Amino acid sequence: MFRTASPDPSVETRFRGIVAAVYVSILCLMAWIFLHQWQSYRSAIDALGDFDAYRAALNAVTRLSAERGPAGAILGEELPLPAERIARLALVRQQSDASLRRLQELLETARCEHCTDELDTLQHVRTELSDARAQVDGLIRLPRSERGDAQVDAAIQRSGNMIPTLQSIAATSVIGALEGDPKVVTYLYTAAFATLLRERAGLAATYFIPALTAHRPLHSTEVLAIERTLGNISQLQMLVQSSVLRLQSLSNNAPTAANQHYFDNGVQLITDLLGKASETEEPGVTIGEFTDQMLPPLQAVTRLRDQALQLAEDSLRHNLFMRRVTLIATVLIGSILTAIVLFLVRQFHRQVILPFVEARAFVSAIAAGDFSHQPPARDYHGEIKDLFAALMLLRQSKEERLKLEKERDQLIRELRTMASTDPLTGLNNRRAFEHKAEALLAERRSPHPYVALIAFDIDHFKRINDTYGHETGDRALQRLAELCRETWREGDVIGRVGGEEFCTLTLIASPDEASVSAQRLRQRLHDERITAVDGRAFSMTASFGVSHASRQQAPALDALLRHADALLYRAKSSGRDRIETDPLSQAIRGSV
Ligand code: GH3
Ligand code: MG
Ligand code: MG
Repeated sequence: MFRTASPDPSVETRFRGIVAAVYVSILCLMAWIFLHQWQSYRSAIDALGDFDAYRAALNAVTRLSAERGPAGAILGEELPLPAERIARLALVRQQSDASLRRLQELLETARCEHCTDELDTLQHVRTELSDARAQVDGLIRLPRSERGDAQVDAAIQRSGNMIPTLQSIAATSVIGALEGDPKVVTYLYTAAFATLLRERAGLAATYFIPALTAHRPLHSTEVLAIERTLGNISQLQMLVQSSVLRLQSLSNNAPTAANQHYFDNGVQLITDLLGKASETEEPGVTIGEFTDQMLPPLQAVTRLRDQALQLAEDSLRHNLFMRRVTLIATVLIGSILTAIVLFLVRQFHRQVILPFVEARAFVSAIAAGDFSHQPPARDYHGEIKDLFAALMLLRQSKEERLKLEKERDQLIRELRTMASTDPLTGLNNRRAFEHKAEALLAERRSPHPYVALIAFDIDHFKRINDTYGHETGDRALQRLAELCRETWREGDVIGRVGGEEFCTLTLIASPDEASVSAQRLRQRLHDERITAVDGRAFSMTASFGVSHASRQQAPALDALLRHADALLYRAKSSGRDRIETDPLSQAIRGSV
C-alpha cells in the first residue's frame, strides 16, 4: 500500500541533506586551497619586502665602507685641506646617510616581527656613525703632523665598526627573502660575497692610512692585519667564483670585470703598496691617490653585487607574478568547478528527484482513487516522459476499472432487489419473505415478547379479474400493498406469498396487537373504493388468519405459516371478510 505520510525524511529532504554535506565539503576544500595559495602569495610579497630591506642593508654596508676611503684620504692631506677632498667626503657621507634612511624607511613599512629590534639597532648605528665622523672631523682640523698615529687609526677603525651590525640586519632580512623564494639563494650569496669583498678591500686600505698619514713604514701589526685581510679576500674569491659558476643568468661581463679589476688589479695594488709601505716611509703614493686607484676595482665588485641583486629581484618578482596567477587561477577554477557541481546537482534534481517526487504523488493519488490529480506540466523527455505516459495509462485503466466495478455493484444491487422483490407490488416475494422472517424470528434485541404471523387472501379475486379485467386486478393488488405498508411498521416483514395471498410477520407487545392491526387492514380494505380501468368503482374484502406465539417458545416459521394458513382457510370457510386468530398451540408446534 502507498503511504501518504511517512515518518522517514522524504527523498527530496535526504537529497538536500546529501547535497548540503557534499557542498560544504567542497567549499571547505576550496577555502583550504585558496587560503594556502593566499598565504603563498602573501609570503611572496613579504619576501620582496625583505629583499628590499636586504638590498638596502647591503647598500648601507657598501656606503659605510666607501666612507672610509675619502676620510682616510683627507686625513693624509696637509692643511689647508683640498676642497675636492672635502667635497668628496661630504658626498660619500650624504650617500651613507641616504642609504641608512632608505633602510630605515623599509624597516618601518615592512610587515616583520624583528623590524622593531632592527630599527633600534639602526638608530644605534647612526649615533655611532655620527660620533665616528665627529672624531674624524676633529682630527682633520689639526695640522697633519699633530694627527696622532693612534687617533687616526682609532677614528678610521671606528668608522667601520658599524659594518658588522648592518651585516646582521642584512642577514635577518635574507631569511625572509629566502623563505619566499629559495631559488634566489645563489644570487643573494653572490651579492653578499661581493659586498664583503668591497668591504674587505676598503678595510685593507684603512690599515695604510695611519702610516701614510704619519709618513712612516707600516708597523708589523698593520702588515699582519693587511695580510690577514688579503687572506680573507682570497677565501672570498673562491666562494664568489663558485657562486658565479652556478649562475647561468649572470651576464659574463660582471664576473669577468670583477675578476680583472678587483682580483687582478685591486689586490695587486694592495700587495704592491704593502711591499713598499712595509719597507719605507715614502711609498710614492698618498693615501688619497691610493684610494683613487682602488675606486675601479671596488666599482667592479659593486656592479657584480648589483647584477646579482637585480637577478634576485627579477626572480622574486617572477615568483610573485606566478603566485598571483596561481591564486587567480585557483579562484577561477574553484568557482567554475563549484558552478559545474551546482549545475549538475540542479540537473539531477530536475531530471531524477523531482520526477520521482511527482510520480510518487501521482501514483499515490491514483491508489487513493483521486483522479483529479494532474500529471506535472513540466516538459519531460526520454524515460521520464515514458514513465508519466505509463502512469497516465495506469490511471486511465484504474479509472475504467472503478467505473466498471461501480456499474457491476449497481447491477448486483438491482438484481438483488429484483430477486427479492415482487415487481407488481414492491413487497417481498415469497423467498425474501421467508428469509427476512427467519431473521426477524432470530432477532434478540427486540423488547417485544410475542410474534404473530398474519396470512390474508383477497376474497373472490378471480371475480374481480373476470369482471374488471386483469389490469384492474393488478391495480387492486397494488392498492392492497399500499394499505399493508401503511398498516405495519418498518421492522415488520410483509410479503406477497401467492397470487393474491399475503403474509406479515410482526413482533408485538401483546397477542391482541396482531389482531388489532389485521382488523384495521381488513376494515380499510372493506371501506376502500377501487376504480377499475373502465372507471367503475368497486370494493373488495380479504380473509385473515392470525397465528401468534410467545417468543420464549421459539416458534418455527413453518409452524406459524401453516397455522396461519389453517386459520385463513377457516376464515374463508366461515364466510370470508373476517379474521380468525389463535395462539400457536403446543400440539401444533410439536408436530412441526
Ligand atoms: P377465494 O375467495 O376462495 O380466495 O376465491 P378466489 O377467486 O380469490 O381464489 P382463486 O384461487 O380461485 O383465484 C385466484 C385468482 O387470482 C386466480 C388468478 O387469475 C388471480 N391472480 C393470481 N395472480 C394474479 C395477478 O398477478 N394479477 C391478477 N390480475 N390476477 C391474479
Ligand atoms: Mg382469493
Ligand atoms: Mg388464493
